[in-house]
Amino acid sequence: MSNTKFSESCYLCNSDSNYIKTDNEKKRHYLCSNENCGEYEISLSAMEHLIHNNDFKSQLLPLAKRCKGTDGLLKISVKGTAIEAKVRPRAEV
Ligand SMILES: [Zn+2]
Repeated sequence: MSNTKFSESCYLCNSDSNYIKTDNEKKRHYLCSNENCGEYEISLSAMEHLIHNNDFKSQLLPLAKRCKGTDGLLKISVKGTAIEAKVRPRAEV
């Protein structure tokens, strides 16, 4: 796995952030500079699903914020036809 950091605006809130590619580049692990946002991992398919769903994105901000600096990580993925957003222990990453 590559640990190369990419700079890009946060997927959830458009603030300055960095991400690394995870899961064979199928996911991105974002670390956001916005104090109302935080840290999360999102799959590329979930990014496609949510691209125009700003309501859902804003609901995820507090979850991402809660994970910053903790042992938990917000994971956003597609399950069937729905989006699943869960906080999981990082050890499972
Ligand atoms: Zn953000």
